[in-house]
Amino acid sequence: MSDKKQSSGQKLLKELAYKKQNYYEVADAAERKAIFDYAKGYMKFLDAAKTEREACECAVNYAKERGFTEYRFGDKLQAGDKKYFVNRGKSVVVFRVGTKNPEEDGFRVIASHIDAPRIDLKQVPLYEDGGMAFFKTHYYGGIKKYQWTAIPLALHGAVVLKDGKKVDIRIGEEPTDPVFYITDLLPHLGNEQMAGKAARIIEGEQLNVLVGGLPYDDGDVSEKIKLSVLSLLHKKYGVTEEDFLSAEISAVPAFPARDVGLDRALIGAYGHDDRVCAYPALTAVADNGSEHTVLAMLVDKEEIGSEGTTGMQCKVYEDLMEEIALALGANFRKVRFASKCLSSDVTAAYDPNFAGVYEKSNSALLSCGTAMCKFTGSRGKSGSSDASAEFVGEVRKMFAEEGVVWQTAELGKVDAGGGGTVAKFLANLNIDTVDLGVPVISMHAPWEVVSKADVYSNYKAFLAFMK
Ligand code: MN
Ligand code: MN
Repeated sequence: MSDKKQSSGQKLLKELAYKKQNYYEVADAAERKAIFDYAKGYMKFLDAAKTEREACECAVNYAKERGFTEYRFGDKLQAGDKKYFVNRGKSVVVFRVGTKNPEEDGFRVIASHIDAPRIDLKQVPLYEDGGMAFFKTHYYGGIKKYQWTAIPLALHGAVVLKDGKKVDIRIGEEPTDPVFYITDLLPHLGNEQMAGKAARIIEGEQLNVLVGGLPYDDGDVSEKIKLSVLSLLHKKYGVTEEDFLSAEISAVPAFPARDVGLDRALIGAYGHDDRVCAYPALTAVADNGSEHTVLAMLVDKEEIGSEGTTGMQCKVYEDLMEEIALALGANFRKVRFASKCLSSDVTAAYDPNFAGVYEKSNSALLSCGTAMCKFTGSRGKSGSSDASAEFVGEVRKMFAEEGVVWQTAELGKVDAGGGGTVAKFLANLNIDTVDLGVPVISMHAPWEVVSKADVYSNYKAFLAFMK
């Protein structure tokens, strides 16, 4: 129907009512191509960066290739500098120094996390039972434990040897690599298991990773399979059983990122949460200049409360911002008061198969763009920093000026549960902060799904925020 034929009611409705837009629907051919092209780079990043250590290394390499150099506390800085700051190999801040007066303009911060739910090995992990060798584990982050059984797993991590030397481990990602496995019960014997509560049908102590089955060829030793695993680890990595005491090894899903759907509109992968925000943050800052001083923070430990030396609650990020302010001769208190932050983390996408937990008009709809959560938290916004209407209005204006397709979202129904992000830790520094991130289907499952349109929308939103 042409505009001329629109009734007055239709016109008024268009003018006054709010409706989410499907980004694919409103994107022209060139924009659609950009959406699909951007996804390719993101999928490569997903496969290369399955742990925070690997994501940190990938981000540093990405920045280096674009002329960024390492920053250390106390270094001099000036407008135009392109720097990255590595924190203990597990978190990284990539930043550009802008030309604007930092005391008046502040910094533009995009904060995301690069840790993801996974199955960590215990410090004394290896044992043998029933003709098999296993690693004992302690899972990391909020998972449905039963989802992690009977799928191929890869081992990633680092071992610090007795002499202090560090060895990186990565097994199960190459097509010719072996993979690992957590067993589940056959349905034939599963009557009692299946009648139990889903939270308990697989217990934490049952998440043991199968790592071997070949006995060591010596009749005089016991635990031959365990010995053959130790022998292989020693040959390849120089590792002894005692070295696990100072190791961080994680079992993560071994499948690569793949297109999902006949039309390839979606991406399935391990750990979209929160690499789907970390990668756009990295590429937005590394590939694009800005008059503002812009920082992409890729931090660790969000999934277990942002604690410790690499989590967002650590003083190191505040110290870094203060050091930058100092190097530019600016008063840090003024700088952070003038700063703005997008806390960039994923939210739940509305899933019609579980419609009961969502309130549809305030849920993120897949492909309707990156989703802003004015507040997160649970039980009455508890634990949320709740961005002000003024700041949301400011960001909304930035997005409108750059034609960003975006939406707002809450994580499910009011009483259905909830969640938190790093937003409050930045807001507590006196930096205006709001959550913005990509809607995810099956969040925290070993394989999650997002829309390519939303990934690109997130990237465009960051560019608008940096403009
Ligand atoms: Mn997250
Ligand atoms: Mn998460």
